[in-house]
Amino acid sequence: MIALLLLLVRPPQAVVIATPRGLTSVPVSTDLGGAAVAEPLLVAPLGVSLVMEGTRATVTLGGAGFVFELGVPYVSAGAAVCPLAGEPYMARDTLYLPLSWLAECVPRALAPRYRWDAAAARLDVASPPLAPPSPPNPMTGLRQHHTIVIDPGHGGRDPGNPGLYFPEGRTEKDITLAIGKLMRAELLRRGLAANLTRSTDTLIDLADRASYCREACDLFVSIHVNAMPPGRHSTRATGIETYFLSEAKTEDQKRVAEMENDAIRFETDSPRLPAGGLGTILKDLQLNEYLRESAQLAGLVQGAVARVHPGEDRGVQQAAFMVLTTARRPAILVETGFATNRDDAAFLASALGQRKLANAIADGVVAYLLEFERKVAGAQGGGGPGR
Ligand SMILES: [Zn+2]
Repeated sequence: MIALLLLLVRPPQAVVIATPRGLTSVPVSTDLGGAAVAEPLLVAPLGVSLVMEGTRATVTLGGAGFVFELGVPYVSAGAAVCPLAGEPYMARDTLYLPLSWLAECVPRALAPRYRWDAAAARLDVASPPLAPPSPPNPMTGLRQHHTIVIDPGHGGRDPGNPGLYFPEGRTEKDITLAIGKLMRAELLRRGLAANLTRSTDTLIDLADRASYCREACDLFVSIHVNAMPPGRHSTRATGIETYFLSEAKTEDQKRVAEMENDAIRFETDSPRLPAGGLGTILKDLQLNEYLRESAQLAGLVQGAVARVHPGEDRGVQQAAFMVLTTARRPAILVETGFATNRDDAAFLASALGQRKLANAIADGVVAYLLEFERKVAGAQGGGGPGR
């Protein structure tokens, strides 16, 4: 604990510390054997940390270390030494510091951010200056660091859809992994960070996939391959569609969500289908603050992929995908084409097709991030970027 020892002729009743986060009042009293003593200084609002080593106390404030010696009326900050109006001392578990440290030494060491207003007995702490906007990445135009999590659908004992027209016994899980790896390589090449939920033929529970995208992650892209159930026209359906999480409005959207959510039956240890089934998923939706962002991301990815895909542009769709419900970032699911259509399947299974798809999804992601950076810069009145 730290307290202020007050050695002024007419001491203030309290010292106010004004930071961008708010005001903290540190009461002071003057009746300890003639010496002035404050209540313990509140540690958290100042960001103060204290280390005691014998009679030496190191107080870190505003990124600077102040070294006190008990009973010595000086404090050193780096190479500079600042005289104090009194001596620091310990009483019980509290370190008492002369107020002149806060009034004179701190503003001197940390100018111009820390300023002492003697009339108001107030220490004003300004916000740290905004980092100057970094120059845009020449390849993408992005100024900030971004991390994307790529989720190749299915894996391990869950093959995904069997891939009616894929060669050599390949299934959906092989195609999604190939596209995911290429997309990661492409994003890295453009200077973004990208992680895969799986980089091998392994199964990850649906509810766990989006958890790969948390603090240091900007968005989540799940990659899948579509299929039509057997029927008269099952081989006709073709093309690309991009989903964001919402309530399915059409039978076709319901079909795709049920097909992808069905992967849960491969999860051996007690599948975690929410107790209320889809109802619970939809309730989760209302908690998802990223719906609008996800829809925008879906639109930009869909537009980019539709330009390179030989099949139909089936547009942006919405449905309740388990894999997207736990996302706490903008999240989409790309159905990259139909394994039940000969042309789509050939495109999806070819190295060139996979590369085109991966690059196009990366194009959509970068376009979204550029809009995002513009929006954030606008919200800050044209000031520095950041989130
Ligand atoms: Zn799938």
